[in-house]
Amino acid sequence: MAEHILLVEDEEKLARMVEMELKYEGYEVEKALDGRKGLDLALNGQFDLVLLDIMLPQLSGMEVLRRLRKESQVPVIMLTARDSVVDKVSGLDSGADDYVTKPFAIEELLARIRAALRNKGGAAQSAALTAGDLVMDVERHQVSVRGQDVELTKKEFGLLRHLLENKGRVLTREVLLDAVWGFDFVGETNSVDVYIRFLRSKLDDAFGMKLIHTVRGVGYVIKEE
Ligand code: CA
Repeated sequence: MAEHILLVEDEEKLARMVEMELKYEGYEVEKALDGRKGLDLALNGQFDLVLLDIMLPQLSGMEVLRRLRKESQVPVIMLTARDSVVDKVSGLDSGADDYVTKPFAIEELLARIRAALRNKGGAAQSAALTAGDLVMDVERHQVSVRGQDVELTKKEFGLLRHLLENKGRVLTREVLLDAVWGFDFVGETNSVDVYIRFLRSKLDDAFGMKLIHTVRGVGYVIKEE
């Protein structure tokens, strides 16, 4: 089956050229000409890979990447016009898998795409996070306890994921707020407490476990029993 690639690039000529080359190689391609549309497609489509320009209207490539990474581990290759070390470092820090500096030879881009798609298989297998009887499949956005599915909202899932990724480490409310709600958030840090209560009721209480621990005056930690 053809692999699906999302191309987020506002330079129409370049976007058309890349699209044509990718289709010629047998990939299916969807295009977005600005960051907002790109993020929307990336979050709602089933893509095997995203090519993401950094300088974009509406939302910058960095911001698209930051928001995308809260929900998806789809491989992302950044396209940067500036051969800037800062861009590369912050791109890779934010979870980009690779970057290609413009202008690029199409062969180089194709080689990077093949490499990123190859690595994807390995990443998907390690996408499960666990604690005791709880398993989170990050790729499928599913949580189960002893094989039984647990329905979580997006925020609950994000919060639990962050705690699982940092299993054994105490996270402050501020850190959790920033990681899960991000800069969009307006409100109080006690939102974290509210969502921790939701999680406890759906997980610890529902299954008679004790995974989520409160560290008084500091924050929360997931520990295995
Ligand atoms: Ca651009």
